[in-house]
Amino acid sequence: MIVTEQTPDQVHDVVIIGSGPAGYTAAVYMARANLNPIILTGSVTAGGELMNTTEVENFPGFPEGIMGPDLMMNMEQQARRFGADIRHEDATELLLDQPIKQITTGAGDVLHSRAVVLATGSAYRELGVPGEKALSGHGVSWCATCDGFFFREQNIAVVGGGDSAMEEALFLTKFASKVTVLHRRGELRASQIMADRAKANEKIEFIWNTEVAEVQGEGKVSRLLLRDTTTGEPSSLDVTGVFVAIGHDPRTELFKDQITLTEEGTAWVEGRTSRTSLPGVFAAGDVLDPTYRQAITAAGSGCVAALDVEHWLADTLNSEAAKVPTPPTNTAPVPS
Ligand SMILES: Cc1cc2nc3c(=O)[nH]c(=O)nc-3n(C[C@H](O)[C@H](O)[C@H](O)COP(=O)(O)OP(=O)(O)OC[C@H]3O[C@@H](n4cnc5c(N)ncnc54)[C@H](O)[C@@H]3O)c2cc1C
Repeated sequence: MIVTEQTPDQVHDVVIIGSGPAGYTAAVYMARANLNPIILTGSVTAGGELMNTTEVENFPGFPEGIMGPDLMMNMEQQARRFGADIRHEDATELLLDQPIKQITTGAGDVLHSRAVVLATGSAYRELGVPGEKALSGHGVSWCATCDGFFFREQNIAVVGGGDSAMEEALFLTKFASKVTVLHRRGELRASQIMADRAKANEKIEFIWNTEVAEVQGEGKVSRLLLRDTTTGEPSSLDVTGVFVAIGHDPRTELFKDQITLTEEGTAWVEGRTSRTSLPGVFAAGDVLDPTYRQAITAAGSGCVAALDVEHWLADTLNSEAAKVPTPPTNTAPVPS
């Protein structure tokens, strides 16, 4: 590693922020490429979204499925095995628009690094009602693609009125016997085509002007307590599952003023690469993905970031090396 006079004493090659499938995959690749990555996992949210779920059945390589927290522990161990420096800390402040980036951690340390990978994920919006958290992974879900399969021939609900709620509801009709869409308003926000499709599906029923007041169940969801948004009148709905589809927020708070974001609020990247609008700053996983948001796509995106960082560092170091003046060779005749 080349350290110029203007740079701090220790400049790391790369710091990864976030320890979901994107961050750990990037760490595995970069550690194996001898880039000595530091990974800030997040102090209380290490392992990312899959720490909040039970069984993951669609991550390749586990024919019997694997519990979300076990999958993330495996990823951590794999990154550690190749020498990734894993720190259970938050990044609290970033300075990204300079050749040597500055990352302040929750412990007050300041790290300096040539490259940074932003892998902070995206948070599904929650209903914020009693029972939701306790029954998460036990009937409360935010992802039909992930969990729909568990609800064969069951009576379930979807909360929301936008395109993604309609998409989730339509997808869930492949498994469930009945899908009830609960929407706070009297009409959908979804595009006409998605609304028409959902309304035409025999398995989907709508309850309008209704919000969820509580999720109930002993160990697993059995009932929703509802409230009419116009009259306040309470009611209930017996279901074994509820899919919350009221949106998600990419976790960009820390750097949203420094890199370009897309209209959807995700990190903007150049084409299929992980390169953000700032040189040396890369993004991976759900933080850049408004569409797919799966563990395997996040892991693939972490791999892309690692390879991009590797190439970018090689180019940067080569051009820095080219700038270092070579000592003149003395060709003058040696005086006798
Ligand atoms: C309940 C649930 C169940 C799911 N089930 C499945 C499933 O079965 N199959 C599937 O493929 N997908 C599933 N998903 C989706 C999947 O979890 C995500 O697509 C995936 O985790 C995204 O990976 P990521 O690495 O981009 O982000 P995340 O997993 O969200 O990780 C983000 C990381 O960033 C860290 N972070 C954030 N801010 C900071 C900071 N300031 N400093 C340091 N660290 C920070 C967090 O601590 C976390 O480690 C599920 C999601 C949920 C919510």
